[in-house]
Amino acid sequence: MPELPEVETIARGLALRVTGETVDSVWIGSRKQPLKSSAGRIAATLEGKQIVRVHRAGKHIVFDLGQADGNGSQQGPRRRTRSGPAQWIVHLGMTGRLVVSDPAAVIAKHTHLIAKLGSGRELRFVDPRMFGKLSVHTNGFNPGGMEPLEVEEAQFLALFHSRKAPIKSALLNQKLLRGVGNIYADESLFRAGIRPRRRATSLTREHLRRLYVSVREVLKEAIALGGSSVSDYVDADGQEGFFQLQHRVYGREGEPCLTCRTPVKRVVLAGRSSHYCPKCQK
Ligand SMILES: [Zn+2]
Repeated sequence: MPELPEVETIARGLALRVTGETVDSVWIGSRKQPLKSSAGRIAATLEGKQIVRVHRAGKHIVFDLGQADGNGSQQGPRRRTRSGPAQWIVHLGMTGRLVVSDPAAVIAKHTHLIAKLGSGRELRFVDPRMFGKLSVHTNGFNPGGMEPLEVEEAQFLALFHSRKAPIKSALLNQKLLRGVGNIYADESLFRAGIRPRRRATSLTREHLRRLYVSVREVLKEAIALGGSSVSDYVDADGQEGFFQLQHRVYGREGEPCLTCRTPVKRVVLAGRSSHYCPKCQK
């Protein structure tokens, strides 16, 4: 499942490829599962618009849309009330992909949306398992929570210091930080030397400061790693599968800790596996 660094990588790759393109027409398949706005509304919002910007918000890919005449205004002659800029939001779920294709390229099985672009290329959404989500917004999309790469240290401390939940659960709580998933939560806690089950409120300011640094460090390292492999995700001939930061604890139950050789432990917290070193993490 793509986490924040993978989504950031994909959004950057798409930004390079489709920013400035216009959406000439949209085809949407008959499967309803991925559609969080109606097919008609998605098509009506996208068609005739220019893709002004592509960026990431949490684990969502956000396409900011403007009028194709280039002035970016959303106030068409038939709109009586002012509304915010239109946005197309894509959540990749478990297996979703957005690929930029030549129109002659074979349409992959499980293609749910095809946007024909002004350049002649196509932007296709493919998702075998259909946990992905497509929606459009005209009042400003709010993914909730704070961006882990933008949050200030003081804000980070304020988010977590009074939480009674285990710190791992708090890190996964998307209402606090958005986009930190299971893998990067485990890796951040390892680097900060904090056990996943520790209650957030029991952590000192120094612990929380270390965690603040390690969350950002882990995410930035993974994003830097993704930069070289972006073509694998957004170009139609790319390979599937995501790059991985070398995990120090995640998925390494029973294997020796890379720092102290103690076998890595796994516990289940709120239904999710958590991995930690019982010696390096307190
Ligand atoms: Zn260790």
